[in-house]
Amino acid sequence: MANAYLKNEIVAYSKRIGIDKIGFASADPFITLKSRLKIQQENNYQSGFEKGTLEERTEPSTLMPEAKTIISIALAYPSKMKNAPRSKRGERRGIFCRASWGEDYHHILRRKLKALETFILENHPDAKCLSMVDTGELADRAVAERAGIGWSGKNCAIITPEFGSYVYLGELITTIDLPADTPILDQCGTCNKCVDACPTGALVQGGQLDSNKCIAFLTQTKDFLPDKYRKKLGNRLYGCDTCQVVCPENKGKDAHHHPEMEPDPEVVKPKLIPLLMISNREFKGKFGAISGSWRGKKPIQRNAIIALAHYREKEALPHLFDLLKSDPRPVIRGTTAWAIGEIGGGNESEQHLKAAQDREKDEQVQEEIEKGLNILKNEPK
Ligand code: SF4
Ligand code: SF4
Repeated sequence: MANAYLKNEIVAYSKRIGIDKIGFASADPFITLKSRLKIQQENNYQSGFEKGTLEERTEPSTLMPEAKTIISIALAYPSKMKNAPRSKRGERRGIFCRASWGEDYHHILRRKLKALETFILENHPDAKCLSMVDTGELADRAVAERAGIGWSGKNCAIITPEFGSYVYLGELITTIDLPADTPILDQCGTCNKCVDACPTGALVQGGQLDSNKCIAFLTQTKDFLPDKYRKKLGNRLYGCDTCQVVCPENKGKDAHHHPEMEPDPEVVKPKLIPLLMISNREFKGKFGAISGSWRGKKPIQRNAIIALAHYREKEALPHLFDLLKSDPRPVIRGTTAWAIGEIGGGNESEQHLKAAQDREKDEQVQEEIEKGLNILKNEPK
């Protein structure tokens, strides 16, 4: 009985500190998840960003042997930006996904979980608590599902009835036995909108994600982007929201509960051309606080070049010629060579590509220059 009382106290406290939804689950092993992850591994669907072993991700007792309960929390984030600047000719803009708007969510979730942990320990000094955010091993979606936060949609996101899938998830494992909540039944039914809308066919077998095909993952890689995905990237600089945006469960969901999650439009929808020349220091100053900068500036710049190609932004050509000539990073020079071809620009572009062909020592960049020249050849006159 005491623990039911404590649960109510924890729920009440979570509301006071601005946690939008909280749920409780047993710390039993996640058997179905384990077999699903095994299949993912076997099919090579994983991104390589996953943390921990299969056991650590599915068996809470490997992280805390006396674990009894996992508390799952959700914080709702905005889906609409106020005063979004327009992307126009000569000033085309890229976009960071919604989960990267505002302050890095890891920090926000950690502060909430820390406060929750302090509250629990004040009420139950003998307890042990371990909180986790994304970087932890335990799969937070499986925890959220079991704790009744939402169901796991075919788009692989947790969908809450209150806030749709626009929620950040975190969890806290504890040694206190707290009454568990009931999972929410899957509401996807016959809907298949996310699977149909995914530009790369990354959502496989309803509810499985092939990370290697997912644009959200691909925007974070540091190497050359495979040719077949370049045209699919659009103006995305980091992440992809398509399978969330098309979801009917997200219709009209736009929570503005946390001032620190409000996006700065110039940061999350920045002009593309200035990104080409940005110094490390400027990059850190402008983008360092958002989660979308965690892989550094190279992937963002590579994606910006691809986005300029997507827009066929001729105004970018002088800057791209500079990059092709002087950037020390092969991925940037090579992607630039391809983008110059895509944008066009006739003789001038051809001359720059041919000059690069004469001086370039890197094999992959040479291949990209060749591609750029071939695309130029077929440019409509
Ligand atoms: Fe497809 Fe984008 Fe969703 Fe990835 S994030 S599954 S690429 S729609
Ligand atoms: Fe489920 Fe449809 Fe939303 Fe996909 S789009 S997660 S199938 S409700």
